[in-house]
Order: sequence, then structure tokens, then C-alpha cells
Amino acid sequence: MMDRITVVEGDITEQKVDAIVNAANTSLLGGGGVDGAIHRAAGPALLEECRTLNGCATGEAKMTSGYRLPARWVIHTVGPVWHGGKNQEDELLARCYRNSLALAVQSGVRTIAFPSISTGAFSFPQERATRIAVREVRRFLESNSSIEQVIFVCFGKQAYQTYLDMLGEPTT
Ligand code: ADP
Repeated sequence: MMDRITVVEGDITEQKVDAIVNAANTSLLGGGGVDGAIHRAAGPALLEECRTLNGCATGEAKMTSGYRLPARWVIHTVGPVWHGGKNQEDELLARCYRNSLALAVQSGVRTIAFPSISTGAFSFPQERATRIAVREVRRFLESNSSIEQVIFVCFGKQAYQTYLDMLGEPTT
């Protein structure tokens, strides 16, 4: 179980996996942060495909090709904007992980990389988001054997350390 989850510090666009997850916004028409990096690396054809998807609701996920990325697929999910924690932010963030993984399984994805959804422009507190990410991925992997590897890709030392700490904590 634990060996199916790894954490690295780096750039998600460079990951050699079947699918990378994008922390997008509801328009799916491009933004900053990890979304900007993914669009730059994939090339303009990614935006062309995204235009055909009619956006994506918060907590949901949609898939496109990866174009110039090493990853074959991009799974675009929309995390919640943090508004203090009483607006279903936790549940919506959990659904991003669950729905992204379900979509990945449907497409035969075996290796997948996640960024730290919602913790940039959307201001979700890092520790709280990481706890949810780790919990949801662990739960999903317990009942699914087709996904071989989930990589949490952290942008910066602090996020990396938070993931390491959280993965070291026993599940309850
Ligand atoms: P959101 O709007 O969901 O908060 P952001 O892109 O602003 O999305 O931030 C999400 C996380 O992605 C942040 O932790 C940010 O540091 C991280 N991030 C930004 N660029 C990259 C990248 N190239 N690879 C991996 N993570 C990244």
C-alpha cells in the first residue's frame, strides 16, 4: 500500500506518468500556477481541447490528451476556493481526488501525479489539504488495484515536508 504512494519535490509537467492532474478553474480556459505551467508545457492544442469541454464544476474532473507533455493524459479538476472552511471546502477537495482517480481508472491509467490542489491561488491551508489528499488516495487505493503509483508532486520544500509528515502518520 505505502509503496504505491510517493512524494517528490518538483515540477508536475516533467513527470513521466500516464496522467497528471491539473488544479484548474471552472472555465478550464487557463490560469496561473500549475495550470499555467501545464498549458505552457503541453502547447496550444491543450487549450483547444479544453474549449470543447464547457468548463468543469468544483469537485469534478475532466480528461484531455497531454499533447507535448511526457504524460499521455491530463485530468483537469477544480478545487474549492478557501472561504474559511465552513463552505464544504473539505468535501469538495476530497471529491477532486476521488473523481480524478475514478476517471483515471476508467482510462486504464496506472501511474498518476497530483499537485497540491487548491493550496495556491485558492488559499486552502496546506496541512489541512494534505491530510485530505493523503486520506482520499489511501482509501481509493485500498479498494482499487489497477493504479500502481500515485505521486504527490510538491512545489517547494515546505509542501514536500508536510506531505512527508502526513504520510508518516498512521491511518485512523
Ligand atoms: P489552486 O488554484 O488550486 O490553488 P495553484 O496552481 O495556484 O492552484 O496552486 C496549487 C499548487 O500547485 C500550489 O501548491 C502550487 O505551489 C503548486 N504548483 C505550482 N506550479 C506547479 C508545478 N509546475 N508543478 C507542481 N506544482 C505546482
